[in-house]
Amino acid sequence: MPFDFDAVIHKQYDILPLDPSLIKTTGEQKPQILWVGCSDSLVLETLTLDVQPEEIFVHRNLGNVVSNGDLSSESAVAWSVDLLKVKHIVVCGHYGCSLTKEKDPKALYGWSKDITKLHKLNDEFLELSDRKVDETSREHRLEEVYTLAETDWLAKQPNVKAAIRERGLQTHAFIYDKDSNTCVRLVEKAKGGKPEI
Ligand SMILES: [Zn+2]
Repeated sequence: MPFDFDAVIHKQYDILPLDPSLIKTTGEQKPQILWVGCSDSLVLETLTLDVQPEEIFVHRNLGNVVSNGDLSSESAVAWSVDLLKVKHIVVCGHYGCSLTKEKDPKALYGWSKDITKLHKLNDEFLELSDRKVDETSREHRLEEVYTLAETDWLAKQPNVKAAIRERGLQTHAFIYDKDSNTCVRLVEKAKGGKPEI
C-alpha cells in the first residue's frame, strides 16, 4: 500500500502563496531541483521558480504519480537524488487534472487506482464532515491531499530520507492553477496547529 489512505484523507494543511525566492537560482548550469509534474498541467517550471532550465530535472507523467513502483519514476528519483544530489524536490499537482476527474479509468491498467480510491474517500470525507462544497472544491481538495500524499511518500523513501537527514534536501508540494497561471504551496499543519515551514 503506497499511502496510509486514512491519514491522507484527514490531512490538515495551509495553502500559501508561492514566494519566488523559496528556491533561489544558483546561476549554475547544474540541476538543483527535481520537479515531478503532470503531463497535462501546462505549467512552465522555469517561470514558476524563476530559475534557469539547467537547474531543473523534470519528470512528468500522467497524474504526477511516483508511488506506484514504476521504474521510470524510481529511476528519475534515484538519478536526481543519488547522483545529481539535488537540493529540492517539488511535486506539482494541478487543478483540473484530467486524471483526477476520471472516476472509472479502466483503460489505464491500474495506473491511477490510488487516485480513484482517494477520489471516493474524499467524497465520503466531505459528506461526513458535512461541508457543503461544490464539485470544483471537491476536486481541488482531492488534488491537494493527493499531491501532499505523493510528496510525503517520496520523503519516506530510503534514499530521499537519508538525503533529507544528511544534506538537508527539502521537499515541497505545489499546486498549479492554469486559470490564474499561479502556483500555491501546500504546507501541512504540525501538531498544535502551526504550519511546518
Ligand atoms: Zn494532470
